[in-house]
Amino acid sequence: MEMMPVKIVLLGPPGAGKGTQAKSISNRYSIPHISTGDIFRKNISEETPLGIQAKQYIDNGQLVPDEVTINTVKDRLTWEDCKNGYLLDGFPRTVAQAEALQEFLVSRNENLDTALCIEVPSSFILERMTGRRVCGSCGASYHVKFNPTKVEGTCDVCGEHEFFQREDDKPETVKRRLDVNIAQGEPIIAHYREL
Ligand code: ADP
Ligand code: ZN
Repeated sequence: MEMMPVKIVLLGPPGAGKGTQAKSISNRYSIPHISTGDIFRKNISEETPLGIQAKQYIDNGQLVPDEVTINTVKDRLTWEDCKNGYLLDGFPRTVAQAEALQEFLVSRNENLDTALCIEVPSSFILERMTGRRVCGSCGASYHVKFNPTKVEGTCDVCGEHEFFQREDDKPETVKRRLDVNIAQGEPIIAHYREL
């Protein structure tokens, strides 16, 4: 059966499970899952000009500038695999990006089908992210409540006993990221409500 092309943007805070939902939605509709974070990371690891440029912002905890991000996404959306639609994850992250996407679509006589926002109470996200622990020896990832080791204090994978909490999983960091994300996210949600 030929499916209608479906174009989706996925919005929501970090730690809401966007990645998991993105995978299942893109499988369900046979559309590419386009994550700007993934694109930047791939370019950074391949040391492309885009990667070198993006790295300086990402390493400083800043957003990559709109112009660079918008051009990157526009280019990606002209690939052959986007004929069937696509799911955007991590984009738009600013109102300027949302407006640029809208202009791009209008110029091609296309439109977005859905802006889907995953809402998760901040307290749940905080519990999920701050409970994460990583094995210091092999890097296996656990959660103190939702995904504990089988034997307390012993890594299931390598049997070692040292665990640590990633810097960006610490409560102050998670709270700051959530605040920033809410401040940035609200106007984008308002933009799509209006559309
Ligand atoms: P995170 O949830 O840690 O922000 P992402 O994988 O979504 O992870 O993105 C990693 C980094 O890439 C971001 O912190 C940001 O610097 C940059 N980035 C991703 N998407 C965008 C975007 N739409 N606009 C600007 N910068 C972006
Ligand atoms: Zn281990």
